[in-house]
Amino acid sequence: MKLRLILGDQLNINHSWFKEKEEDTLYVLIELHQEAQYVVHHIQKIVAFFSAMRHFSQQLKNAGHAVMYFDINSEASKKTLSENLKILIKEKNISKFEYLLPDEHRLDRELHLFCEQIGIPTASYDTEHFLTERNELEKFFEGKKQLIMEYFYRYMRKKYDLLMYQDKPLGGQWNYDKNNRKKWKETPAIPPPFDTDKEGVEAVHEAVVKANIKTIGRFDLEQYFFPSSRSEAIAQLHYFCEHLLVHFGDYQDAMHTQQRNLFHSRISFALNSKILRPLEVLETVIDHYHKNPDEIELSQVEGFVRQILGWREYMRGIYWREMPAYKNNNHLDNFNKLPDFYWTAATKMNCLKSSITDSLETAYAHHIQRLMITGNFALLIQCHPDEVDNWYLGIYADAIEWVQLPNTRGMSQWADGGIVATKPYVSSGAYIHKMSNYCTGCHYDRTKRTGENACPFNSLYCNFLDDKKEHFSKNNRMAMMLRLLDKIPEMERAEIKKRALSIIQNPDAY
Ligand code: FAD
Ligand code: SF4
Repeated sequence: MKLRLILGDQLNINHSWFKEKEEDTLYVLIELHQEAQYVVHHIQKIVAFFSAMRHFSQQLKNAGHAVMYFDINSEASKKTLSENLKILIKEKNISKFEYLLPDEHRLDRELHLFCEQIGIPTASYDTEHFLTERNELEKFFEGKKQLIMEYFYRYMRKKYDLLMYQDKPLGGQWNYDKNNRKKWKETPAIPPPFDTDKEGVEAVHEAVVKANIKTIGRFDLEQYFFPSSRSEAIAQLHYFCEHLLVHFGDYQDAMHTQQRNLFHSRISFALNSKILRPLEVLETVIDHYHKNPDEIELSQVEGFVRQILGWREYMRGIYWREMPAYKNNNHLDNFNKLPDFYWTAATKMNCLKSSITDSLETAYAHHIQRLMITGNFALLIQCHPDEVDNWYLGIYADAIEWVQLPNTRGMSQWADGGIVATKPYVSSGAYIHKMSNYCTGCHYDRTKRTGENACPFNSLYCNFLDDKKEHFSKNNRMAMMLRLLDKIPEMERAEIKKRALSIIQNPDAY
């Protein structure tokens, strides 16, 4: 008898494992305390993964496969993954163990070590999900000093022949990023968000509560939108094509208090759990564009393709190139604690209050909220990257280390010293005002740098540049910012630093 392990983020029903029913194969899925507790996760994240696993296991059973499923309240659930596998191998008289390669370094090591000790033949298989091999990015950039995403993206466009005309980019341009920066001003109208079928989700929620798993965030079925099944995930993708793609690129960087999602697809959970495959997502979206040439512009589609074909695969490649050392990078020597309001949204800063409320209520925030609001503030107050990582890894339903870590520690916190981003993503209140309506009605005045009601981002931004200027002295992309800093009169600079210091010392008071 052969035992095959399926992890919670390996729900690829089209995997070649499942093409044929093998009589002597037993599949196993376990809702593990180990996985639900290696960091404090959002309640909706745990519910989303367990719901999807339950649907997946049922789908396998319906297709005639032999499946053992252990839920979060089973005895097995409290044991580690390796302990469970050892017990099953003995009890079921297993002669061969097979697994799909994990995307997380931690589990990759655990299974590797387990196979070395188990004393029966073992084999590992690709998950048949990603568009690149683990080390493809490393090979692509071999000998290069900088790992510029744009070059990798162009290579991927050619490799998969997506949005290409012969060997040239469709429309003559590779990248329409400059078109992706509109502020949303209540037009165009945003269709109501796609809603998933919640049957079964409540039962999983009750099971997680009963199991006493420590979680963060809120669980409200009304706000819950993660697909549990493949048919729901496909419906969510089609909904995006039909209603949101038309403005995706234009408003990709916009933020608004009344519109949580704007034109974002919200398919990251379905992708990262592997319910959806990236290639099918890209082909569906490009096909929709070709069928609706009068309605949808190339810039909208290119913006979306870049995220999945470019950024998503790029981040994965960085992860495998740099791990395990990457997890300890703290290039800017930041050591502060993350404010308590990251778990409560109790702050007078409207941009943070809004973005954190969205995150607590839905286990989701879109890219610019993550990068330019919560990430920006954490970096400006010089939080330790471990603190920042733990929050991001816990709060978002799509957060799995291979994608969360390079985004947080690399792109957002610049703790890798510039492997992912050529300069840190920091800004004053001016950028936040340009891209959102957060500043309207905020307790603070976005135009002021000093004084009681001055926007905290303004003094923190100047202070950050001043504190960290040595790190950036050879960085051309930071030269202009540092020159502007030098132009601030000495007395004002001292005032700015004083205010910044008081915010850094007690951010929860602001
Ligand atoms: P859309 O805006 O509709 O984009 C479509 C898809 O593109 C996403 O579903 C995602 O799969 C992919 N994508 C877009 N940007 C990125 C990116 N930078 N890296 C990788 N894939 C990308 N994404 C995660 O999937 N998991 C994370 O844990 C995660 N953590 C992040 C932490 C920080 C600090 C930042 C700045 C970004 C993070 N991202 C993460 C990237 C991005 O914010 C999310 O993928 C996106 O917000 C998911 O929402 P969506 O599906 O509506 O995306
Ligand atoms: Fe955020 Fe400052 Fe704008 Fe308030 S004024 S919303 S704190 S950027």
